[in-house]
Amino acid sequence: PTAGGPSSIRQVKLDKECELRIEVSAETPLRLRLLNGTAEVFGTEIAPEIWLTFPPRLKFAVFTWYGATIEMDGTTETDYTADETPMISYVNVHAILEARRNRAKESPSDSDSSQVIDRWEVQKLACRVGSQWEMMWEIDAGIQPKKLLQAGAYLTRGLGRQGWKELEISPERSMCHLLVIVVGPTDSGKSTLSRMLLSWAAKQAWKPTFVDLDIGQGSITIPGCIAATPIEMPIDPVEGIPLEMPLVFFYGHTTPSIQVLVVFQNCCFTVPMQTCMVINTMGWIEGLGYELLLHAIDTFNANVILVLGQEKLCSMLKDVLKRKPNVDVVKLQKSGGVVSRNAKVRQKARSYRIREYFYGLANDLSPHSNIANFSDLSVYRIGGGPQAPRSALPIGAEPAADPTRLVHNVAGFIYITDIDIQRKKITYLAPSAGVLPSRSLIMGTLTWLET
Ligand code: ADP
Repeated sequence: PTAGGPSSIRQVKLDKECELRIEVSAETPLRLRLLNGTAEVFGTEIAPEIWLTFPPRLKFAVFTWYGATIEMDGTTETDYTADETPMISYVNVHAILEARRNRAKESPSDSDSSQVIDRWEVQKLACRVGSQWEMMWEIDAGIQPKKLLQAGAYLTRGLGRQGWKELEISPERSMCHLLVIVVGPTDSGKSTLSRMLLSWAAKQAWKPTFVDLDIGQGSITIPGCIAATPIEMPIDPVEGIPLEMPLVFFYGHTTPSIQVLVVFQNCCFTVPMQTCMVINTMGWIEGLGYELLLHAIDTFNANVILVLGQEKLCSMLKDVLKRKPNVDVVKLQKSGGVVSRNAKVRQKARSYRIREYFYGLANDLSPHSNIANFSDLSVYRIGGGPQAPRSALPIGAEPAADPTRLVHNVAGFIYITDIDIQRKKITYLAPSAGVLPSRSLIMGTLTWLET
């Protein structure tokens, strides 16, 4: 009963298969709880009676399959109930994926993994079992994909030293059977659908991997990155994607140029046993954006392509992929709840993501401002910029062999707040005090004005 409570407390009764769509106000968080029935937030069930605090500006929906009563405390930008949602079709996709996961678990097939191995375009390969370096091959000298398979090898982790590709060998045959890629224009609900599929899979005790290729509005870490992370539990409705073990590559820019191709090509993710990967993509689906999508589909060997809210994209993909066996292109309806964001709102959202990295979702982190000498750091930039002409280099120096060479997984991000050219010092904000984990910094074109 709300009688006697503050006037902002109110209850909403939801009928079955309906959702309550909410945009939290820009200033204050919103408290919400489930009073009775069952309900979920983007695929994750919420516990009865427990108040959840949603941060300002968050846009989300509380959906119920069988009916529920929700209680809210606080102000919202908007909140309304919708009885038309595409949730049935989304959960049907989940059911089909679930059946495939179960089938794959019962009969692991060789053909899937040999495809993965055939695709490698590296020159040299080094393999290890545990910490021991066991085998080395040069692809030029004719590597046998089948031989690798016999060794039980599957996916690579990052780029090895000096151009060697490192390969981890698992004693157990292990591979990814289900590579689901979610594509569609911006604001079609791609991240949200990815999240639901991951949470529903995790609820059924799978450990899917989430790969986020959306350098504009990624949901793993700050913008300008491509990243992957295992999902071991349904995703927390408030905290979002877990950050304990992410694999993060810094691309450095929030919109792609041709360089991004190289980045995709060099990234492979280690995938745990018999599971599934859900890949979220950028909303840029025309011209180069479309080429990049095709490239991602090919690079990851996606076998399920979920197209949200665009007939044209769906028929284009169906057409180009019709000759590929075992690739399903599935068109799905966009949810009416997806909130459209214009360029300015998107830019703002990026700033909030960066702020969240340093200060936490609920201002619960305290970053440190530090000063470093130029001489203590080496700053690199990945592609994108003009390369120094040979004549500008010191005598005898060679231009960098490959300006797009991938660097190791990032250790973290710092924000440069000031550069003092005269005293040769930079001031920066870091997530914590103490020395930086490395003296190598990679510069991007992200900007952030701390407010
Ligand atoms: P995309 O990844 O295609 O750009 P998102 O999945 O990020 O789109 O959705 C855009 C915004 O809309 C996000 O803030 C998301 O939380 C919100 N949103 C998505 N679906 C719903 C819904 N059913 N009700 C309310 N908000 C939603």
